[in-house]
Amino acid sequence: MNEKTLVLIKPDAMIKRLAGNIISELYNLDLKMVGLKLVNVKKELAEKHYEEHKEKPFFQELIEHITGKLHENENVIAIVYSGENAISKVRELVGKTNPDESIPHTLRGKYGKIHSKTNCHETVIHASDSQDNAKKEIDLWFKKDELVE
Ligand code: ADP
Ligand code: MG
Repeated sequence: MNEKTLVLIKPDAMIKRLAGNIISELYNLDLKMVGLKLVNVKKELAEKHYEEHKEKPFFQELIEHITGKLHENENVIAIVYSGENAISKVRELVGKTNPDESIPHTLRGKYGKIHSKTNCHETVIHASDSQDNAKKEIDLWFKKDELVE
């Protein structure tokens, strides 16, 4: 099924200069990039994006992470990919939520980590996990005219 999915290259990946490697690996999935921008993520956008986690004990830290507060105010690269089974293809490359459990050839397996002092889950990348969430997230991060299709 033809789908669109949202990818966010998070501040922990940006500060480690991993954006190029990550985009390069995403190219191998044969999806079409239909939107891309650098975003200085504000608290309001972060809270909307992670609304489903607002009752979780790590919510505060999650917001600080995605807004760059834990990584020298680094920004986020937001990308929309389109193509056959785009959501599951990207999630498969991303790996498991817990970087320590992600198999080595996945992005989180390679680049993710749990910070030993802060316990911050530095998961490197966000990818939509369902069609409903993909639609909501793309509408939240991109205006219609910022997408080429
Ligand atoms: P995913 O990013 O794989 O979709 P979730 O939606 O469950 O995972 O969580 C969103 C983000 O919240 C994760 O990428 C990670 O940064 C953070 N997170 C998830 N679980 C934990 C946890 N137990 N402790 C700290 N941070 C977490
Ligand atoms: Mg999620």
